[in-house]
Amino acid sequence: MSDCIFCRIRDGELPCKKVYEDEDVLAFHDIHPKAPVHVLVIPKQHVATFSDADEALLGRLMDRVRHVADSVLGLKEGWRLIVNVRAGGGQEVYHLHAHILGGKRLSF
Ligand code: AMP
Repeated sequence: MSDCIFCRIRDGELPCKKVYEDEDVLAFHDIHPKAPVHVLVIPKQHVATFSDADEALLGRLMDRVRHVADSVLGLKEGWRLIVNVRAGGGQEVYHLHAHILGGKRLSF
């Protein structure tokens, strides 16, 4: 979608600090980090929100989130996974994405 900021990042029209990419997902640093490590993982396929994604896409996304956090970022002490769903959940960008937060002991 041409008006979707994460599609534009996926297509290289907007810059990002990329940490991982494969045929299914792209991972990059959040522009306003809420923790020492704050990375977003997006499916390359445009899906607006978590509720719209099918089982196969969610499975691939969660598998790659685990790979990025544990192997690419090496967050050995642990990390937090957040998916904000629609306005009530705090979602601002309507292209499905998972937040990986880590790099310190997180509290609520
Ligand atoms: P959400 O509230 O779950 O929709 O989160 C959207 C996230 O995208 C926020 O944490 C923003 O800081 C982040 N964000 C917005 N624009 C960009 C961008 N151009 N590059 C990286 N992160 C961004």
